[in-house]
Amino acid sequence: MFEKQKAATFLFYGELNDFLSKLQRGQPIRCLFRGRQTVKHLIESLGVPHPEVGCIRLGERDLTFDALVEDGTFIEVYPPALPLPLPNDSVLSGEEPIRFVLDNHLGRLAGYLRLFGFDAVYRNDLQDDELAQISCAEGRVLLTRDHRLLMRACIQQGYWLRSKIPRQQLLEVLRRWNLAPLAQPFRRCYHCNGLLLEVPKEQILSQLQPLTRLYYNDFRLCPTCGQIYWKGSHYERMHPWMDQVLRSATITP
Ligand SMILES: [Zn+2]
Repeated sequence: MFEKQKAATFLFYGELNDFLSKLQRGQPIRCLFRGRQTVKHLIESLGVPHPEVGCIRLGERDLTFDALVEDGTFIEVYPPALPLPLPNDSVLSGEEPIRFVLDNHLGRLAGYLRLFGFDAVYRNDLQDDELAQISCAEGRVLLTRDHRLLMRACIQQGYWLRSKIPRQQLLEVLRRWNLAPLAQPFRRCYHCNGLLLEVPKEQILSQLQPLTRLYYNDFRLCPTCGQIYWKGSHYERMHPWMDQVLRSATITP
């Protein structure tokens, strides 16, 4: 049977406009549909992934994603208030307050997050299905530049990086969850995400270059990939940059 065409009007606020065309931004958008459609489906049909939505309003009423949209309604869609609460805010549990999984081509950002001590899973060969599955099964926030990937039904927490520049992306992520106060530099392996262990110099002596052996005494080892870290010239170069990142990412109330 031919179902009657219906229409609803959507208005998106704030950063949700980043997903709309220039002509649609800040404007009410008329959305035509047939049959029974959820508000989540229609919001995503207009290009806005559900993990980016904070709240949905019909007049004074909040709608959930599975609410059915009625003909002739006017629906307002807001981004969440920032900074977002941490996915795991229990300090006592000893678990990571937030964990990430990153889409392909975000290797630099993954390295940066690890430098600041955050748990960031990244491999350049993970397929979309695997990324979604890891995010969902392990409660990891999915970071991506792909709108469509964020629209997968199982994704609970995800974020579409606005910038294509890794250092800018890092600031976006740190600010979104106000992570600067939680940073623990040089806690994780830049290469593989492993947690670094302090290691006695004697134990790794044979693996050190002569000058490193001479001038440095504090070493950390990645038990996963075997990489050795010390506070050498690389550290000296990185340190001012890392301080600057934390200052710029700090949110003042
Ligand atoms: Zn490692």
